[in-house]
Amino acid sequence: MKRVSILGSTGSIGQSTLSLIAGRPGEYDVVALTGGRNVELLARQAAETGAAIAVTSEPDLLDQLRDALPAGIEAAAGAEAIAEAAARRADWVMSAIVGAAGLAPGLAAIETGTTLALANKETLVAAGPLVLSRAAASGATILPVDSEHSAIFQALRGEDPAAVERVIITASGGALRDWPMERLAEATPEEAGRHPNWAMGNRITVDSASMFNKALEVIEAKEFFGFSPDRIEVLIHHESIVHALVGFVDGGVMAHLGPPDMRHAIGHALDWPDRRALPVERLDLAKIGQLSFRPPDEARWPALRLARDVMARGGLTGAAFNAAKEAALDAFLARQMRFTDMAHIVETVLDEMDASGETSGRGDISLGDVLETDAAARARARGAATRLSQTV
Ligand code: NAD
Ligand code: MG
Repeated sequence: MKRVSILGSTGSIGQSTLSLIAGRPGEYDVVALTGGRNVELLARQAAETGAAIAVTSEPDLLDQLRDALPAGIEAAAGAEAIAEAAARRADWVMSAIVGAAGLAPGLAAIETGTTLALANKETLVAAGPLVLSRAAASGATILPVDSEHSAIFQALRGEDPAAVERVIITASGGALRDWPMERLAEATPEEAGRHPNWAMGNRITVDSASMFNKALEVIEAKEFFGFSPDRIEVLIHHESIVHALVGFVDGGVMAHLGPPDMRHAIGHALDWPDRRALPVERLDLAKIGQLSFRPPDEARWPALRLARDVMARGGLTGAAFNAAKEAALDAFLARQMRFTDMAHIVETVLDEMDASGETSGRGDISLGDVLETDAAARARARGAATRLSQTV
């Protein structure tokens, strides 16, 4: 039996992962499941899978979790307990916590030399070189789960990386893609949170509308595959059928296609290096009829320009970028700033921290450096958000 743990099991990716596992009875031994405030769901998942341990990020919910769990399943709470559960011996670990909170547990799993299925893109954005060097040291395998990166990974199979000329990551454009530019500032969290094609967690859905999700993915592609930034392109593709394309030096382009269903990318990482049948809808191109592509408008989506700044600056800039983005998203979701203010705040934070040398990050970057930069960027973003709310 394959021993598996799922970090963030109560979320969108976590639930999809568990649904695949449930469809293959007797094949998996579930070690650890972790979640946040939704301890009822977490306990139910643990009971159904017979997990060894269930961990909530919220210490005040530990008793509630314990009461909801059947006898024999261990309960724990807090960020450290999540990292400890992530370090339990498992053959395959899904990293599907949202945000920078996923970094330390992912690293803890990597230290054990396991196979880490990485949905948490923030891990590579905030700490790419650190994470990859720890994986090289422990012998851990990291497999991409973000659909675009899974697509690139699949297109590269059997290819010589030196023969890659460019990669193209597609973007649906998110919920507000057809809105007139001048209305974007008025968009509410509900409007930005209605994705045209994918059913995902709320935060990544709003990040899709602002294109911060795509900005994170461009940086993730640079870190994971080692592509130079000028070889990574973004293309708006409304149908979300082509997930990414890889162009080779001979002019050939390999595209990865599939319906927008994360169970494909999750299942690919679960079964790698094999391919097995997965319960995803089969693509019917005749029914879809047409696929459209157009270049992104960077005036509408400044996050894409910011991603290039982040890659050019390097060091700890990715950690600051992600944290400032998370804080700005918090403020937008709490209706403390407008949709279009998010990019403005993030850019301000990056420029301030670049000027002060806080993100230069010389030498080997440690987890402590990343967490310190993360906290400093969040504090700056909150400060900038407060100043903004006083002037609006
Ligand atoms: P989600 O919000 O649906 O679920 C997040 C999970 O993380 C939940 O289990 C939640 O309880 C847990 N969590 C939240 N805050 C936490 C904290 N501080 N400490 C510990 N656990 C915490 O998110 P999602 O859409 O499943 O996305 C998960 C990750 O996968 C994100 O990094 C996202 O960018 C990435 N991803 C998601 C999709 C998708 O289709 N949903 C696609 C590609 C990549
Ligand atoms: Mg993606």
